[in-house]
Amino acid sequence: MNLRSQWNGQFSRYDLVARTCDTGRSVVRVGEIEIGGGEFVVMAGPCSVESERQLLRTAEAVAEAGARILRGGAFKPRSSPYSFQGLGIEGLKLLRKARAATGLAIVTEVMSESDVDLVAEYADIMQVGSRSMENFALLEALGRCPRPILLKRGMTATLAELMQSAQVIAMNGNANIILCERGIRTFETATRNTLDIAAVPVLKTVSHLPVIVDPSHAAGVRCLVPVLAQAAAAVGADGLIVEVHPCPDEAWSDGEQSLPFDEFRKMMEELQAYLDFREKMREKDSTLRPHLVNAGGAR
Ligand code: PEP
Ligand code: MN
Repeated sequence: MNLRSQWNGQFSRYDLVARTCDTGRSVVRVGEIEIGGGEFVVMAGPCSVESERQLLRTAEAVAEAGARILRGGAFKPRSSPYSFQGLGIEGLKLLRKARAATGLAIVTEVMSESDVDLVAEYADIMQVGSRSMENFALLEALGRCPRPILLKRGMTATLAELMQSAQVIAMNGNANIILCERGIRTFETATRNTLDIAAVPVLKTVSHLPVIVDPSHAAGVRCLVPVLAQAAAAVGADGLIVEVHPCPDEAWSDGEQSLPFDEFRKMMEELQAYLDFREKMREKDSTLRPHLVNAGGAR
């Protein structure tokens, strides 16, 4: 038995999001941007929207460096009730301004099913955070939402559970879903989470949905973000979501893992070599899948 048939046993029941032998890949379209269509799409911006100046400066800097989508949390799922909880609707309005100023599309988190309609008025992509991956009432409401969904893997969720959550959204009518590996909890404490890099080729083998990586929340420290981004490019991810801040040491959330503008620009420049290499490999094997099947066969 090769790995693909082994995996298909685990995943094929999530039939709306699973990939069978002859299913093509899904492309999620956001205006002119195609996620999962071959281009490596970078979403970048602050963890939290803090002010107009902070957001607009960041939006301009990430757009100039090649990002296509601006991230920024307005509704923030903070582990501590004493931490900044987000600007809410004021943050959404600032995201709308940043879109008008730069042309970047917007991805922002929605935490509750009662906020879906509100967030959908401002967002181009609706983010489901790690802590909400199994908020089934939210997932059902997002199934009825006309916007694409960025579904982040729960920090203790298996890949089958991630697929199950994607299936819930799809069953309720919305199959425009992007999966996101953002690191999982393990015994390791040197990083905030453990980036499960294998999740990318596994998900791309068993699912037709695009898969992106969040190196920021995986690393927890900014010096590791570029190298994890390179790893994501090398294993075939369709893009990244990265935290960037004008002055990370003053950020209201996740400053330790946020890149200042110059480091983000350098990361983007250095990524190109990995993307070129990947393109060359693609000529031989477009999805890495046959390698995986062969590897499984040998086990
Ligand atoms: C975020 O994107 O800022 C965030 C809270 O991410 P996660 O849900 O992956 O922790
Ligand atoms: Mn964050």
